[in-house]
Amino acid sequence: MKDRKLLMIPGPIEFTPEVLRAMGMPTTSHVAPNFIEAFGQALERLRQVFLCPSGQPFVVAGSGSLAMDMAAANLVEPGDKALVVNTGYFGDRFGDILERYGATVTYARAPAVGDAPALEDVEAALKGGAYKLMTITHVDTSTAVCADVKGLAALGRQYDTLVVVDGVCSVAGEEMRQEKWGIDLALTASQKAIGVPPGLALVVAGPRALDAFHERKAPVGSYYADWTQWLPVMEAYEARKPSYYGTPAVNLLWALNVSLGQILDEGMEARFARHRRLSDAFKAAVAALGMGQVPVSADKTATTLTAPYFPAGVDRSMLAHVKEAGVIVAGGLHPAIKAKYFRVGHMGVVSASDILATVGAIEYGLAQAGYEFEPGAGLSAAQAALLRR
Ligand code: PMP
Repeated sequence: MKDRKLLMIPGPIEFTPEVLRAMGMPTTSHVAPNFIEAFGQALERLRQVFLCPSGQPFVVAGSGSLAMDMAAANLVEPGDKALVVNTGYFGDRFGDILERYGATVTYARAPAVGDAPALEDVEAALKGGAYKLMTITHVDTSTAVCADVKGLAALGRQYDTLVVVDGVCSVAGEEMRQEKWGIDLALTASQKAIGVPPGLALVVAGPRALDAFHERKAPVGSYYADWTQWLPVMEAYEARKPSYYGTPAVNLLWALNVSLGQILDEGMEARFARHRRLSDAFKAAVAALGMGQVPVSADKTATTLTAPYFPAGVDRSMLAHVKEAGVIVAGGLHPAIKAKYFRVGHMGVVSASDILATVGAIEYGLAQAGYEFEPGAGLSAAQAALLRR
């Protein structure tokens, strides 16, 4: 029997055979011509995936937290004021990172777990605040709440505040239009909808973010994250010239270039639509099985993941049964509700059959946990949603 499990957590995700093959290629020098070409092409493709033709991409070895660290280290000077739009665990993390670089942080907090702060409340904070920057977690992976980045970014522009978006759980899955929406810096990591094993921090800085960096008086407080060093490296590779600051993650970069090519072959609009369609089908199954979700309303829900509450009488021991049925999903993360819910990632190369397999495995887990429901109710709802489109 095949013992391969389907990985349906919110990152790392399933990767394509072509991406995994690139990971296994014999490693070359980081100044070999074929590597320089791949790095240069990946930088060009990042601009297209982030929908930010005027942006400057940075690709550095590290996880998503390094991308957050890079944003804070290069944009914040001691004493700057920052507003964190907080929809969960990763908003708290961004606040901590900003404070580490000397920012005074104010939080615009969601009124409840699963909710997002109202635009009026964020506007009230911006009005009185003189904030140098605001951060938004596009999809908070702890709550599956999707923030209204378009509306929030417009407010940031209106109040002359740099808009920084943590898109770790959104970029290349959730609709995000960096340039059109006025986002000054967007960041992600390789292991989610970008479709590459963990290990790359990805940042695209728009012109206003780069200006703020160039105008800073204080030196950047991080050695490794400093754009003073990385900017010339990125510019050199894009001009197809070798360069060096820290050794690039050669195989990960090859894999990134392959994956970005696949993403652009699908097309960003088609990709956003596929994520919406599969998310709708999965969420229909969750509802049909009698489970609520952490986000308080459909308009605040991500399309890259779903966070269902366990039904009454069922706890996280059910997840082991889901795994027995061949699918790995994730437990809760938000400290206030950790034991009460679970998380299913559906991003990247995910297909309709992955959704149906996952719903089937969840039904198996629920049945093993003694929960009473109509067998196939989830599958039927998901299939009906898939066939409607
Ligand atoms: N932000 C969000 C929204 C995330 O989901 C994550 C990772 N789950 C991070 C930041 C941090 O990324 P990493 O774990 O790769 O450091």
